[in-house]
Amino acid sequence: MSDARWSEVDRYICDQLVKSDPILDAALSACDRAGLPEHNVAPNQGKLLMLLAQLQGARRILEIGTLGGYSTIWLARALAANGQLDSLEVDPAHVAVAKENIARANLAARVRVHQGPASDTLAKLVEQRRDGKLEAYDFIFIDADKPSNPDYLKFSLELSRPGSTIVVDNVIREGAVADEASDDPKVLGVRRMHE
Ligand code: SAH
Ligand code: MG
Repeated sequence: MSDARWSEVDRYICDQLVKSDPILDAALSACDRAGLPEHNVAPNQGKLLMLLAQLQGARRILEIGTLGGYSTIWLARALAANGQLDSLEVDPAHVAVAKENIARANLAARVRVHQGPASDTLAKLVEQRRDGKLEAYDFIFIDADKPSNPDYLKFSLELSRPGSTIVVDNVIREGAVADEASDDPKVLGVRRMHE
C-alpha cells in the first residue's frame, strides 16, 4: 500500500470510529503552538491504547515518552477507579505542555509526569519495586528514544507482573527492522529489543 493509501484508510477509520473530542483537539493545538514535534500517536492509535488498557482493567499505567501528553490523556481515561499513571519525559518544555494538557483534561490527580532521562527514573522505580514499595504496572507504553528500547523493555519486565501488557511504538521502522545490514541506531535498538 502506498503512503497516500495508508493515510486515506487511517482518515476513514478515524472518521468512522473516533469521535472528535474538544479536550484532545485542544491538547494537539497546544502542542502545535508550542512547536512540539508531531510525534504523538494518531487518534485511532490513541483509542486503541485506551481500549487495550481498559480490557486489561489497568489500575497502574506507565508511559515512557510523554511529549505533550496526547497519548497520556487517552491512556489515563482508561484507568480504573483510584488508578494512577506515571509518564516519563526528558524535555522540560514537553513536560510543561503536557502538564497543561493533562490539567485541562481533568486528569492531573491521576497522572504524574516525571521529568528526566527515562533510564534514571526507571532505575529509581525498579529500586522501589525491589524494596516492595511500588506495585507492578498493569500496562506499559514504550514510546521514547528508540535506541534505548532494549533497556526500556528490560526495565518494563521488572516493573510489570505476569499478565501485564507492554506495548512498544514504532517497532517496524518502515520495514527496516528486517534489514540485518542496517546501521541506523533506531533500527538497531528495535532489533535488539526484539531479539
Ligand atoms: N507518547 C507521545 C509521543 C512521545 S514522542 C504521544 O503519543 O503523544 C517521544 C518523546 O520521548 C519526546 O517527547 C522526547 O522528548 C522523549 N524522550 C526522548 N528521549 C528520552 C529519554 N531519554 N528519556 C525520556 N524521554 C525521552
Ligand atoms: Mg511514537
